[in-house]
Amino acid sequence: MFLSVFDIFKIGIGPSSSHTMGPMSAANRFLKVIRSDDWPRPGGAHIAQLKVSLHGSLAFTGVGHGTGRAVILGLTGEEPHSVEPDRIDAVIDAVERTGLVRPPGHPAYEFQPKTNLIYDKKQPLPGHANGMTFQGFDRDGRLLLKRIYYSIGGGFVITDTELEAMRGQKKNASEERVPYPFASAREMLDMARGAGLSIAALKRVNEETKMSRAELDAGLDRIWDAMNGCIDRGLQGEGILPGGLKVRRRARALHESLEAEWRSNRPNPVLANDWLSVYAMAVNEENAGGGRVVTAPTNGAAGVIPATLRYFKRFYEAASREDIHTFLLTAAAIGGIIKHNASISGAEVGCQGEVGSASAMAAAGLAAVMDGSPEQIENAAEIALEHHLGMTCDPIAGLVQVPCIERNALGAVKAVTAASLAIKGDGTHFVPLDACIETMRQTGDDMSEKYKETSIGGLAANVVEC
Ligand code: SF4
Repeated sequence: MFLSVFDIFKIGIGPSSSHTMGPMSAANRFLKVIRSDDWPRPGGAHIAQLKVSLHGSLAFTGVGHGTGRAVILGLTGEEPHSVEPDRIDAVIDAVERTGLVRPPGHPAYEFQPKTNLIYDKKQPLPGHANGMTFQGFDRDGRLLLKRIYYSIGGGFVITDTELEAMRGQKKNASEERVPYPFASAREMLDMARGAGLSIAALKRVNEETKMSRAELDAGLDRIWDAMNGCIDRGLQGEGILPGGLKVRRRARALHESLEAEWRSNRPNPVLANDWLSVYAMAVNEENAGGGRVVTAPTNGAAGVIPATLRYFKRFYEAASREDIHTFLLTAAAIGGIIKHNASISGAEVGCQGEVGSASAMAAAGLAAVMDGSPEQIENAAEIALEHHLGMTCDPIAGLVQVPCIERNALGAVKAVTAASLAIKGDGTHFVPLDACIETMRQTGDDMSEKYKETSIGGLAANVVEC
């Protein structure tokens, strides 16, 4: 099984990797198909009009997550990694005013968001909770092209046929052509022991079959710069978050009071918790505001890993560039195993798959830079994930704000606790990480759909919006 560190950590925009980045990427994929000659059509037929329908969780919480806006942006050719957050409103306004999308290299297509973008809450698609149908029609309304895409979490988008193939491939995971194709934590530990390498080193060897060492290191630097920049912007943000819940941004004020406390040497018995929380909340407030973030492994859970890493950098003076690379590679190794064997999608398994996975990844990364053995790292990931099992996804009003912002703070705190507990042990422990991941998968399967990013249960159903 090989999932690159750059598949796990992707630079994009908020508020949701599955509901914002994924649909934007799906629209771009559909545009690419239109431009290719890879689809049958009557001679001389041309697409003149586009229609998109959103299904399952995308239909239920798509408005709050900005899914419709993401689709519109994608149909104009904007991509998650490069779209300028400040330009988004102007692009959407133009499409709503003209009823046309004008992607580069294409003719203009008719697309009236009010009628051609459908939130279909009645008809889920069979492959996954986040389904999308893209259709192209000619001038006379004849359907020429149709594609189904699924946004499977963390910004990953696949077609219905790719989904089927992927599910088949899981059985043959070890056939991947990388030197260390670990598909489970057990295999990862066996390979690390057999090769005498750390988990980060195993991951590095695999990555370097696809790119040079310099490219890998530069890419890891870019990821960390984007995470760190997101924290900095989040610490400067003020005011009310968009969406109508009137949630106030808190990270800036919290940060100012922490800095003042730090400068005056006032004792703070909960110092670690406060710094972890403020960094995580800064990222998730930035995400909720539609800013630039890195999936880690998703947008909703984007604060846990940057917060843990920034905390480590700030309070461990000897932290080096190499440590940052080790942290990210180790975290990505754990994230890949979880994604392969269960899910990182709130719409599939609830928040245990998002914040739970992020916390496990952060715990593993931190244990690695604290010189943990592979066994201690696996133990750290397991502790963090175990104590998120069963956590539902119930964002109020479908916005990635409550409980998501604070939940990332708690995820970071648990990650540090888990790493610390694991480092103080010898790596032997009761519940293997693989068993914990399988438990998460089964719990997700058993979880009512109400608690999987539909916003029709849990907090979303019990808190009155005002
Ligand atoms: S509750 Fe968790 S899984 Fe659901 S949107 Fe918020 S962060 Fe994501």
